[in-house]
Amino acid sequence: MSERRLEGLGISPGIAIGPAFVADDNIAVPEYRLEPAQVEDELARFAAALALSVKQLKKLKGKADGLPGTAKEEVGYLLDAHLHMLGNSRLVRGVEKRIEADRLNAERAVMDEIAQVAESFAAMGDAYLAARIDDIRVVGLRLVRNLTKTPYAAIQKLPEGTIILAEELTPADTALMDPRRIAGFGTVLGGAESHTAIMARALNLPAVLGVAGLLEHVESGDMVVIDGSEGRIIIDPTPATIARYETRREERGRADRLLSRLKRLPAETRDGESVVLQANLELPRELQQAQDAGAAGIGLLRTEFLYMNREDLPDEDEQYEAYAGLVRGMDGKPITIRTLDIGGDKLAAPLMKMLPPDAPNPALGLRAIRLSLKERRLLDAQLAAILRVSALGPVRILLPMISSVSELKKVRVALAEVVRRLKRRGVRLPKQLPPLGVMIEVPGAALAADALAASADFFAIGTNDLIQYTLAIDRGDESVAELYNPLHPAVLRLIQFSVQAALRANKPVCLCGEMAGDPRYTALLLGLGIADLSMAPSNILRVKQRIRSLDIAAARRRAAAIMDQLDDGRIAALLDDFNALA
Ligand code: PEP
Ligand code: MG
Repeated sequence: MSERRLEGLGISPGIAIGPAFVADDNIAVPEYRLEPAQVEDELARFAAALALSVKQLKKLKGKADGLPGTAKEEVGYLLDAHLHMLGNSRLVRGVEKRIEADRLNAERAVMDEIAQVAESFAAMGDAYLAARIDDIRVVGLRLVRNLTKTPYAAIQKLPEGTIILAEELTPADTALMDPRRIAGFGTVLGGAESHTAIMARALNLPAVLGVAGLLEHVESGDMVVIDGSEGRIIIDPTPATIARYETRREERGRADRLLSRLKRLPAETRDGESVVLQANLELPRELQQAQDAGAAGIGLLRTEFLYMNREDLPDEDEQYEAYAGLVRGMDGKPITIRTLDIGGDKLAAPLMKMLPPDAPNPALGLRAIRLSLKERRLLDAQLAAILRVSALGPVRILLPMISSVSELKKVRVALAEVVRRLKRRGVRLPKQLPPLGVMIEVPGAALAADALAASADFFAIGTNDLIQYTLAIDRGDESVAELYNPLHPAVLRLIQFSVQAALRANKPVCLCGEMAGDPRYTALLLGLGIADLSMAPSNILRVKQRIRSLDIAAARRRAAAIMDQLDDGRIAALLDDFNALA
């Protein structure tokens, strides 16, 4: 078969070339007998997996509409067939019977039923039915994947250089990928600002998300090229294609080595304005990368990693050890620790019980600080661990998804209680307690920035969510990815408004959304008055290079001109022209 080129969202730059591992085909199937009293629960578990499978297939159908030519009909037809098999079908009835009569766990019941259906189709000697055997197997595996709900544990054991292809990967799945073994990955679903994408950039793994038709006609072991810069995946590349991409990979390596010379130079504009460049950390193992890039601090420590890929909650001591390693590692440079931001697209097994199972809109539901304030033991353990590490070095506490001053006040009360408790335990705390800041990532918080600036010790502007909530564009949904626009005038005004409120109140303000790490936006953000940017460590030197090439005075003038525009196309043109000049 000749090579196949597929387009998607290039969300983490770089080139990977290697054998594919199709994650969805490699699921471990548990097997056990049920007690009679467990049968009803097992039927309910199966029904939930069935409903989820139908929902996923419908989502994939929407996605297939974007495929070119006849591929759209072909994939659409296939997905219809899969949906049909999940209706009141022989497959579904057969599985239910095995759970009830044979008292088999649902995963095993599905596998046994698929095997039997396939056998009877094969025995009929009918070419049409024989062709359906594969579909039954694929549908069955979808059910099993949804039943097991386990991350792709096998990811940890793959041979070096493997490329993972999957329908969807959660941030927790991605966190399991060891960049020494995994060369890159591609998925059918997922948007550019999703946490899976952020995790990919954190691990420096070339990745392409939102690739329609990716899993049709590809098998584990097939050769694959991932072009994370251009957003392209090539399956079964020709030798000439491989050679071309190997050259590009080498060129990129050379450019990175050149960039590393900037490490010791200051992040300063040509006219002498200095900018603080900090690192966002998803995982503690990025500490080395942050140091290698010369980060001035950790501007955002996302603490979700502590809760992922496990069943129990991390206690105060475990959190203390994790934070202490980073504070010591940064050797006197500041670190901003954000409290738990679970909910929305960031999920973690030990917290699932605390979240409503059928939240109609998780992005607007019990997420982040809302969950921490509702489940005080989560907040208290985290605050206690952070307070304890503040004795080891400069630490700040950051609260995610704040939408009102009253939430901040509640956290201040909680913090005071935790301080008292720690003192009773004889824990020595520094005289100066860590500053308590808020993420500005909800439009309401940006509009209430003056009030928040009066109560908070600092701001961290989270453009990823600010854009999502301002424009009502799901950051993780590839079908609306084109509308996700950091240069929308509404977004820029909210950023400007927040920055000015912070500056008026004399409070530090940092911007830590993905915009901070893209050199395209550097001049605009500096021009708007931001002098502290926090980003994935791999972006620090690229942004520094941009800073060293521009004049702050010119950037301010251009930012002012941009803020007079109402049309986002015009804004983009003004910015890109400016970038092309300097
Ligand atoms: C943001 O929303 O911009 C942000 C930095 O937080 P997160 O990406 O973790 O939601
Ligand atoms: Mg956010």
